[in-house]
Amino acid sequence: MKIPFIDLKRQYDSLPGAVNDVFSDIITNSSFVYGQAVQEFESSFSKKLDNFHTISCASGTDAIFVALKCLGIGAGDEVLTPAFSWISSAETISLCHARPVFVDVDPDYYTLDPARIEKCITRKTKAIVVVHLYGQMAQMDQIMELCERYRLFLIEDCAQAHMSRLKGKVAGTFGHVAAFSFYPTKNLGAYGDAGCVLTSDDQLAERIRRFANHGALQKNDHLIEGMNSRMDTLQAAFLLMKLPFLDAWNESRREHASLYSSLLSDIPEVRTPSVLVDSVHTFHIYALRARDRDSLQQFLLENGIQTLIHYPKALPNLKAYRLLGHRPGEFEVAGAMEKDVLSLPIFPELQTEEIHYICQKIKAFYQK
Ligand SMILES: *Cc1c(COP(=O)(O)O)cnc(C)c1O
Repeated sequence: MKIPFIDLKRQYDSLPGAVNDVFSDIITNSSFVYGQAVQEFESSFSKKLDNFHTISCASGTDAIFVALKCLGIGAGDEVLTPAFSWISSAETISLCHARPVFVDVDPDYYTLDPARIEKCITRKTKAIVVVHLYGQMAQMDQIMELCERYRLFLIEDCAQAHMSRLKGKVAGTFGHVAAFSFYPTKNLGAYGDAGCVLTSDDQLAERIRRFANHGALQKNDHLIEGMNSRMDTLQAAFLLMKLPFLDAWNESRREHASLYSSLLSDIPEVRTPSVLVDSVHTFHIYALRARDRDSLQQFLLENGIQTLIHYPKALPNLKAYRLLGHRPGEFEVAGAMEKDVLSLPIFPELQTEEIHYICQKIKAFYQK
């Protein structure tokens, strides 16, 4: 058997002919930027997310950046963010000329550890960028309480958490503002780069919309300087077509995850993901903690199974952050994770037999 980490062709094959129609419609209409599909996607996405404002932009990274920028984050400010994440949640802080302050993650849930936040807060702290890593909700009750107490902005990075929920409330509706990515492999993915910002704050929504379009809400009316971060009409049309499938796709991911977890439960060398109580995990990533991770990954590859590592380095250990001067071992959980996390294939179209095969091989590896 050959099992890729993700197979977007299977998704394409399951979308009945619509993809090619969407493509030729947009080409025929030649409305490539700010076409009708962009507004349609924004309003459909808003409807799904408690009627918050959706402001489409060019990528998930841009979404975090424009959100921080429009909240006024700038030079001299500090922003707390998890030590274990994709680089976007930290580099966007630096892009605003502020300083990312890394906080270690929770040993069970791998999201920002609320118990470690308070001692990182200084007079300069302005905001927290929280990441719902792998599709798991961060511990928002405690984090929101701290944000209120210290008057901090709360930005949710929902790039891996489309429709994840905590106590019934959907990811992206907890903080002042949230960022989503529609990178092709995300739970809702375009056929290229795309992202959006979500907020219930009318004024902030308008500022973000203006900033992401050269500081102008109407052509040539440049109130401020901004940037070009827009979602292509083509990507919006693809997303609009895929959006109705998102809930069913997430459900399939959850089923796959629970099958993995039950089949792997009797292997002492691996630890399967824990799900935060009262939450709905969307399993963008199904990450194990595995003993002899590198040899296991090699063994699985030799058996036709492609796995990935999210992420091979904790952020403070990247060369890019050497300047911050962190010691190795300073972030205990993040530092351990970079050595033993392993992401198994997970996508809605993955077959039950494939999951059984993968789990058999993992068992076989530890019985060698
Ligand atoms: C994918 C991702 C982003 C960035 O999204 P892009 O659309 O690739 O710019 C940000 N944060 C996290 C946690 C991500 O996984």
